[in-house]
Amino acid sequence: MSLSIKKAKRINALPPYLFAEIDRRKREASARGVDLIDLGIGDPDIPTPAPIVEKLIECASKPANHRYPSSSGMPEFREAAAHWYRRRFNVPLDPGKEVVSLIGSKEGIGNMAVAFVDPGDIVLVASPCYPVYHIGTAFNGGKNYFLPLKKENQFLPDLDSIPVDVAKQAKLLWINYPNNPTAAVADRAFFQRVIDFANQNNVIVCHDAAYTEMGYDGYRPISFLELEGAKQVGIEFHSLSKTFNMTGWRIGMAVGNADLVAGLAQAKSNLDSGIFQAVQEAGIEALKLGDKIVEPSRRIYQERRNILVDGLRAVGLECEKPRATFYVWVTAPKGMSSAEFTAKLLDEAGVVTTPGNGFGAAGEGYVRFTVCVDKERLKEVAERIRQVKI
Ligand SMILES: *Cc1c(COP(=O)(O)O)cnc(C)c1O
Repeated sequence: MSLSIKKAKRINALPPYLFAEIDRRKREASARGVDLIDLGIGDPDIPTPAPIVEKLIECASKPANHRYPSSSGMPEFREAAAHWYRRRFNVPLDPGKEVVSLIGSKEGIGNMAVAFVDPGDIVLVASPCYPVYHIGTAFNGGKNYFLPLKKENQFLPDLDSIPVDVAKQAKLLWINYPNNPTAAVADRAFFQRVIDFANQNNVIVCHDAAYTEMGYDGYRPISFLELEGAKQVGIEFHSLSKTFNMTGWRIGMAVGNADLVAGLAQAKSNLDSGIFQAVQEAGIEALKLGDKIVEPSRRIYQERRNILVDGLRAVGLECEKPRATFYVWVTAPKGMSSAEFTAKLLDEAGVVTTPGNGFGAAGEGYVRFTVCVDKERLKEVAERIRQVKI
């Protein structure tokens, strides 16, 4: 006798894994000995700055750090996060009530739905997007209503396009600027519009701010919380992952409205046991050093962005020069779908990218490139594409 094992309905209802085909082609190409240039993943190749690593090493040996941490974060970490928000955005935060630590912002984004989405609730999701926003809704029985991000609207969602009954029933709105995957940025006027919409319709605003520190040519992306009234309606997710090249460390925070922070903390405390304290101490060091250690990677990404964008344009591809993030959102050549263009780049140029529709239907017609490889390799990308007939 063996068990009849059935996955939960929520797992079976997951959308098909759009990257499976790319993964298969990648393996085939590697097996053929193709030297792949992987611009598929959004994961910094630059190591975590040394002072952060040293702090971890120092703090890893303290026995006090070997015990369960608090799920919401050490008071010192929350204070460091609040100070950093004050310094960077001039946003005051009460570290006791308006900050909660996260085991990477992905964890908090997923748990936000555990805390606030009931079966049948509508969640508005600007899309193409980081998938966790809508997966969180789906896992908790909610209904996603996607707001397509279109080029003619600078990849900002058109809140006026939402039917009145949908807006009235909506519980949460997910937005993300600077944006993954489109690399679009938002200004104060857009965030003000979001606050007005939230107040008119009693909608909780969830802003994913993972890329505020990756701004170029002197541009400093803003926090949603900089706007008056934002804290009454919203919560912002931040992460040390992209800012300090710490994706493997799993540390981030959610900040903003005290009731939203408390609700998220309550959901979390029932599911996780916080971040290893030595990692939190290293995170405090990162936040204290701030721009001093971010600036060198920003310069590297900016130079790489220039090389990639100039190279792609020189071979006739259409893309904006992003003001932030480490993504370049490239229009697929006429007559080609996202999948076809991605497959051609991989099979014929050995360049791995991500099809835009993998982030949502509105991403069809685009392909996402990252700049997470060194500049010599990036120069080669355009050269290789030039050799391929597109
Ligand atoms: C990378 C990324 C995250 C996840 O960051 P972690 O803090 O490492 O979990 C969240 N949102 C967006 C848009 C991202 O690109």
